[in-house]
Amino acid sequence: MRYREFGNTGVKVSLLGFGAMRLPEEKVNGEYRVKEEESIEMIHWAFEKGVNYIDTAYGYCHHQSEIVVGKALKGWRDKVYLSTKMPTWLVEKTGDYRRFLEEQLKKLDVEYIDFYHFHGLNEERFKNVVLKYDLLKEARKAKEEGLIKHISFSFHDRPEVMKRLIDVGIFESVLCQYNLLDRTNEEAMAYARQKGLGVAVMGPVGGGRLAASDVLKEALGGRVRSTPELALRFVFTNKNVCVALSGMENMNMVEENVRVASSFKPLTEQELQAIDSFIEERKKKQEIPCTSCEYCMPCPNNVAIPEIFRLMNYYTVYGLREYARRQYQNIGSDEKDERRRADACVECGRCEELCPQKIKIIERLKEAHKILG
Ligand code: SF4
Ligand code: SF4
Repeated sequence: MRYREFGNTGVKVSLLGFGAMRLPEEKVNGEYRVKEEESIEMIHWAFEKGVNYIDTAYGYCHHQSEIVVGKALKGWRDKVYLSTKMPTWLVEKTGDYRRFLEEQLKKLDVEYIDFYHFHGLNEERFKNVVLKYDLLKEARKAKEEGLIKHISFSFHDRPEVMKRLIDVGIFESVLCQYNLLDRTNEEAMAYARQKGLGVAVMGPVGGGRLAASDVLKEALGGRVRSTPELALRFVFTNKNVCVALSGMENMNMVEENVRVASSFKPLTEQELQAIDSFIEERKKKQEIPCTSCEYCMPCPNNVAIPEIFRLMNYYTVYGLREYARRQYQNIGSDEKDERRRADACVECGRCEELCPQKIKIIERLKEAHKILG
């Protein structure tokens, strides 16, 4: 296993972290239950191979991930860094930080948490929850008391917001999205490192989407075994990534990810360029130039135009066929979802008049339904 300094925290973390958000589950009497034995076996195997960072959260796996991770930590607690997250969206008053922390310590059955995150921070939540209820004060107190070792945040917002949060000066590490398909945070991650924060990334294999593509691995002409291998190597090559959390759901995934992380060789400049040119070339030929600006919305018939085009691009450019088809079937599939698929288009032409990209939306929707429907 390879290790990297985790910012200025004084901790060295394994390149691959165990994301405990997709542990195997089964339905028993209509309720989801994590398959404990199988999960613990996977986690221990990863620990034995040198993975020393495990990440969970309050609500993962129907609220059971923390309990199972806690059981897996028995005998490993002093060798592994534990990361979990406080559900900021459930906070209603000052004191809730402490209430959740105590509940989570209990669920995990540990004395302390190494990296305790404010889960899913964005600008709005920072202002209306963290500052409003003075949670940073509670975080400092918890750290002074040794209940948490480091104050961290996970992040879902625009990169400039990440920089502003870093400048608050209290956070020691950040967890954000980064992969071959989504490089939006690249510059903010560099900023985080420059300011001494550890950077953990989630979704290195695109939340499992990239695993299903056999197209992208062709970018390097057969020099990688699989698209997930390419995706992980791409993420590890960025020196600003300290640890990449992969949500592992079975032993095959654990073995494959550990293999790539242990034998990791950075992609060369030429290889990175070859990947970019490969994607650009495919985009030029097949991409629908939709920018998701939503000027065409709302469609009077609720057709989910930008979402359908996004899925078509996943299908054609990145070869994510199964993922795109599945997501397309999900559009409007439950009664609360008012979005409709492409076949609900009545060809009124309103959207085409509004689209700054001049996309022939009606025609493209028909194609999309033929392919994804
Ligand atoms: S043409 Fe179709 S997709 Fe466009 S606004 Fe009319 S119904 Fe909606
Ligand atoms: S207006 Fe055009 S570019 Fe904007 S979301 Fe609609 S289809 Fe895409």
